[in-house]
Amino acid sequence: MQNQLVIYNTLTRTKEKFEPLNKGLVGLYVCGPTVYSDVHLGNCRTFISFDLIYRYLLLLGFKVRYVRNITDAGHLEGDRDEGEDKFAKKAKLEQLEPMEIVQKYTLGFHDVMREFNNLPPSIEPTATGHICEQIEMVKKIISNGYAYEVNGTVYFDVEKYNKEFPYGQLTNRQLEDLIANTRELSGQDEKHGRLDFALWIKAKPEQIMRWPSPWGWGFPGWHIECSAMSSKYLGDTFDIHGGGMDLQATHHTNEIAQSQACNHKAPVKYWMHTNMLTVNGVRMSKTAGNGFLPGELFTGNHPLLEKGYSPMAVRFFMMQTHYRSTLDFSNDALQASEKGYARLAAAVKTAENLKTSATSTSNIQELEKNCFDAMNDDFNAPILVSHLFEGARIINSVNDGKETISEADLVLLKKLMHDFVFDVLGLKSEISNTSSDNALQGVMEIILEIRKEIKSKKDFAASDKLRDNLNKINITIKDTKDGAVWSLTAGE
Ligand code: AMP
Ligand code: ZN
Repeated sequence: MQNQLVIYNTLTRTKEKFEPLNKGLVGLYVCGPTVYSDVHLGNCRTFISFDLIYRYLLLLGFKVRYVRNITDAGHLEGDRDEGEDKFAKKAKLEQLEPMEIVQKYTLGFHDVMREFNNLPPSIEPTATGHICEQIEMVKKIISNGYAYEVNGTVYFDVEKYNKEFPYGQLTNRQLEDLIANTRELSGQDEKHGRLDFALWIKAKPEQIMRWPSPWGWGFPGWHIECSAMSSKYLGDTFDIHGGGMDLQATHHTNEIAQSQACNHKAPVKYWMHTNMLTVNGVRMSKTAGNGFLPGELFTGNHPLLEKGYSPMAVRFFMMQTHYRSTLDFSNDALQASEKGYARLAAAVKTAENLKTSATSTSNIQELEKNCFDAMNDDFNAPILVSHLFEGARIINSVNDGKETISEADLVLLKKLMHDFVFDVLGLKSEISNTSSDNALQGVMEIILEIRKEIKSKKDFAASDKLRDNLNKINITIKDTKDGAVWSLTAGE
């Protein structure tokens, strides 16, 4: 089934048959987080989408080297090389060293990835760990004639590059249009051209995160880290490069230009971009202030949330929209996902104890083919989910005695449900099996009942005390219109 995988390539704007450059090893590079603050649910959507893609490639039997970087240096506030260094600014604000900021948010990011059951990448390189490689690359781009130095900062010469290579190819734009949409250079600008961008940036005297280079003390520009690290670990040309759609126009466009100018080769065969998670139609972002943190989502501790949602309910919610479509957050959709996921997980369990018959009333081989066809069509998880619900329906019908299944078909059905629900969609069972989980559930039901009685006697001080004491041991109580609900505080 491997040969039939088709991927939408942003570069060619068409669906293409997936033919890896090297059959033995697929190279997958995904732009990782900038670790100066917590990741929000929008960032998580992109990382969960690529986890799905990674998982499906593994199911198809490919050996994959999955590289996802950590941006821990060289990110200025403005997109056009202006503004303060984000790490230095945050370090001042939190009264920490920049590397303490990096450590704090890297650990937080890993916790969140684990909560969502994302597989770890094969390599997770950091920008600060690859300064030498970035300097070498900048030196090569200068000697190839595509970059110039002004006063300790090195800029990429976009207009010169565009004479030989189409700079705007990833977003299908002509250079003239791009220039027309960029602000004019002022007298203070060091750049030669409006679209030129920094490969290396001169450090201000007070800056801690800086390194020696042939151009003096400085730090790398944001885009060069991905070019340097992807070519180091995956080669000058590799199979798949991914990230959110917001990275196409600048970050990935510049990555292509840098790598091409350095290595005389196009760096990537298939460019893949995930669409945005939105809230009421507005893109979730750190700057828009509409970003839920995963912890807030799990506890329900946010004004826009009616209640807390488990990581797997959220993951399932994301699986029900194709990665190239926008996904709008809503409580209703999450609550539907919660129920849908519980139904699917229950069916997988029910399948364990089904009785078999001589013949089957449903065509399980066709169901299996449908699941592969869905994922082979540019990783269409929502269609896959609809087929898995058909699998759940068959399981429940056999269990109710309305349908029959043969022994061989049951083996196949159990395998396909397991492979696609757990290994590909990356869901894991949240149905508690252990006696201590069951005991905790029972105890909490008793406590919530007692608290209800206390509240009905209007002893609010006692009910608040009970809630606060539970909070101290990481159990969150939330009062909803349907009564109180409890959850374990995420991340503790
Ligand atoms: P950042 O830490 O801001 O560099 O973002 C990390 C990743 O999250 C990048 O691949 C972004 O494209 C992606 N991203 C940012 N905002 C969203 C969003 N609202 N929905 C989906 N992906 C996003
Ligand atoms: Zn990148």
